Amino acid sequence: MIALATAMLASCGSNKTSQDDATQPPFQFQVDQFNDLKVLRYQIPGFDSLTLKQKELVYYLSQAALCGRDIVFDQNYKYNLAVRRTCEAIYKGYKGDRTSADFANFTTYLKRVWFSNGIHHHYSNDKFFPEITPEYFAGLMAATEGVEFPLMEGETLEQFKARISQVIFDPTVAPKRLDQTEGVDMVAASACNLYEGVTQKEVEDFYAAMRKPGDTEPISYGLNSRVVKENGQIVEKKWTVNGLYGQALQKVVYWLQKAISVAEDETQRSGLEKLVEYYNTGDLKTWDDYNVLWVQDTSMVDYVNGFIEVYGDPLGMKAGWEAVVDFKDLEATRRATTISANAQWFEDHSPIDPRFKKETVKGVSAKVITVAQLGGDCYPTTPIGINLPNANWIRAQHGSKSVTMENITYAYNQASMGSGFLEEFAWSPEEIELAKQYGPLADNLHTDLHECLGHGSGKLLPGVSTDALRNYHSPIEETRADLFALYYLADPKMVELGLVTGENEYKAEYNSYIRYGMMTQLTRIEPGKNIEQAHMRNRALIAHWAYEKGKANNVIERKSREGKTYFVINDYAKLRELFGELLIEIQRITSEGDFNAARQMVETYGVKVDHDLHREVLERYAKLNLAPYGGFMNPMLVPVFEGDKIVDVKVDYPADYMEQMMNYSTNYSFLPTYN
Ligand code: ZN
Repeated sequence: MIALATAMLASCGSNKTSQDDATQPPFQFQVDQFNDLKVLRYQIPGFDSLTLKQKELVYYLSQAALCGRDIVFDQNYKYNLAVRRTCEAIYKGYKGDRTSADFANFTTYLKRVWFSNGIHHHYSNDKFFPEITPEYFAGLMAATEGVEFPLMEGETLEQFKARISQVIFDPTVAPKRLDQTEGVDMVAASACNLYEGVTQKEVEDFYAAMRKPGDTEPISYGLNSRVVKENGQIVEKKWTVNGLYGQALQKVVYWLQKAISVAEDETQRSGLEKLVEYYNTGDLKTWDDYNVLWVQDTSMVDYVNGFIEVYGDPLGMKAGWEAVVDFKDLEATRRATTISANAQWFEDHSPIDPRFKKETVKGVSAKVITVAQLGGDCYPTTPIGINLPNANWIRAQHGSKSVTMENITYAYNQASMGSGFLEEFAWSPEEIELAKQYGPLADNLHTDLHECLGHGSGKLLPGVSTDALRNYHSPIEETRADLFALYYLADPKMVELGLVTGENEYKAEYNSYIRYGMMTQLTRIEPGKNIEQAHMRNRALIAHWAYEKGKANNVIERKSREGKTYFVINDYAKLRELFGELLIEIQRITSEGDFNAARQMVETYGVKVDHDLHREVLERYAKLNLAPYGGFMNPMLVPVFEGDKIVDVKVDYPADYMEQMMNYSTNYSFLPTYN
């Protein structure tokens, strides 16, 4: 499972060092923007403090991560590689006017194809189109020289041109990568390249026959294959070193073998060996064995590599190829560990009714990581957290790894700070300064308190069922965890534990929380709509409740300047008291399973949108011209050789998105165009 980025994100104070150095020019986080997409960069703080062997390991795993790039293009749609290679050929060899608006629009299309790993939008799954005519595109192909177009076997150049043009321009060809509309044959209607010539019913029957009733350790059926019909028979074509996608997987395995030679310990070594065995055989029992080893692998350097998430399959079985290389963020992990280690103190001192407190409470410790390279389905759009493996029985018996990617969230946060968003919605220069200086750490601590303690705190009264709050369970549960975090962020205990220096951190968090809950999260809602999503409901609930209850004392003030609305906190101490009060009530609702009170609370404070304010916020947001979706370029890891021995690995931060994509297409492209 993965956690996706939302608008306002947590990030880490520990990452600040690299660009706080006054002698360095500030690091540029956003490097490109087109259509509804922005391209960002992330840094790899702490890379230099890895040992040489660890750096070498990161380098080999990163090479393995890059070698599978073509796979995900082909998985997403059978002609994605053809479109990509055609456009890249034009980009390289077009001899006509390269300065025209049309050519710029063509280039934008190519950038979008790279960004989405194909011709369908990475988020909506709908096919997108270039803002040029088919005639102009034909002209581009005609005036392209010195490069080859990816013709199919037996196809003439003219036939190829007609076909590729139809693939790109015809809205009836492959309109959706994924179609999960009820009642349609989802296999036939989805353009993804995971099934060929079979119906949904045939696929479902095929796998139903495989499953063993009562199997407590089931393999992930269908995870690593395309299902096709051959001579009237339904068969799986496995993605293995000697099967489908073999040309790319051989390279992945080549680099994994190098990684094995510098593995950190025996557990990691045997995990990597199992992974290689799995790529060789495609055996899903081996995949499970590998995952058990991977869960046990707690080395400094870690990775994800394989066919893992099934979001791209309408039937939720077949996995996209993805890769991440990372290492522990020791400082941030220490922060989360400190909080977890003091779980009992926090529980004992919580303002909630003693009847609802846990006698013994254990904090959950999440690992915080620094990403060093992204590949496959995680590039360029990446999750901000990962929780793996996906097989439920492995999670139950052997545990799982839950990680947050702090350098990624940090980069998102930094990019948004340079975007004018904060300046638009914050009331004063002081508020902006506080957010810039203390916001990142405060956000992280909020997340730590929410995840490590908040959800695990408190207990239900005997006889109260966990689903007593029904559809209000999620927003109430998130409200509870958030309030726990907000309340404790301002506690002197945080200073005592060395997690904050004083009051600035919690003030920065309170400002941003109220701003977000009252106003800025409305940027993610369409005009006229109310709030649906659980996390958004929870934030609106807390902010609106506190605003209303504090009105008599002017705790939070609604101000207006030049027709723009702002929410300003006048009394932080009183606001903390209000958060404590609301926590008491939300815990009571949870512990007693008081459905009516939950409904009342959510419907009154968490759902409704002030439509005038909403319109104003959307107008202010639109003027900032921000792209809603972000993706990342990779840093480049460059080995330094003495003879054939690696003596160091340097990190480069290229800033040219097109150059990186062209580089990958030249140096990390191993699959034939048609697979
Ligand atoms: Zn939560």
